[in-house]
Amino acid sequence: MRKQQRADIVRDRLGELYPDPPIPLDHVDDFTLLVAVLLSAQCTDKKVNEVTPELFRVAGDPKRMYELGEAQILEIIRPLGLSKQKAKNLEGLSKRLLDDFGGQVPRSFEELESLPGVGHKTASVVMAQAFGVPAFPVDTHIHRLAQRWGLTSGKSVTQTEADLKRLFPESSWNDLHLQIIYYGREHCTARGCDGTKCGICRELYPNRRKPPTTKKA
Ligand code: SF4
Repeated sequence: MRKQQRADIVRDRLGELYPDPPIPLDHVDDFTLLVAVLLSAQCTDKKVNEVTPELFRVAGDPKRMYELGEAQILEIIRPLGLSKQKAKNLEGLSKRLLDDFGGQVPRSFEELESLPGVGHKTASVVMAQAFGVPAFPVDTHIHRLAQRWGLTSGKSVTQTEADLKRLFPESSWNDLHLQIIYYGREHCTARGCDGTKCGICRELYPNRRKPPTTKKA
């Protein structure tokens, strides 16, 4: 089966399973989404959703976040991984938004990626989920599943993003990003798999005899 045929099947099946995938990180606007995405690095969305109600109650905009300051932010987000660095970044990011962007979250990859703690993946999630701009953020789940489904060689996350963008129509990127994450969490975890237990893989690889191998992100 050709790679494009596999991609089409994946898109159809995920569309059937998750017709309207919700955004998993709780937020109320662009700023709180940006904060939640930044906090989710090396951490589950569930954990992030446990600390953000209090953080957003006391610092739901860049001015109040900056005024709260690194030490107080850290007190609230301490249960999360990399909390010290994240607290520092949230203070710095809020200052940059106030100084350079009129307190608003900028709407370009370049400007977003210039903010403290915001890399390409975080910027892509914000562009997609806050502004509806097509993007394909690749995290470890997506990197793993794309390899198990034979959609990329998995050489790097950059390569995986480029391969997925080529195989799927732009209009489907934002939903697919979420659908693949949900499928990864629920069915195709990081644990080993013989590559035949799910209907998707049996359809893509009816003659599969060996478990698929994956390269880490
Ligand atoms: S069969 Fe294994 S590799 Fe394929 S989708 Fe299911 S869990 Fe993932």
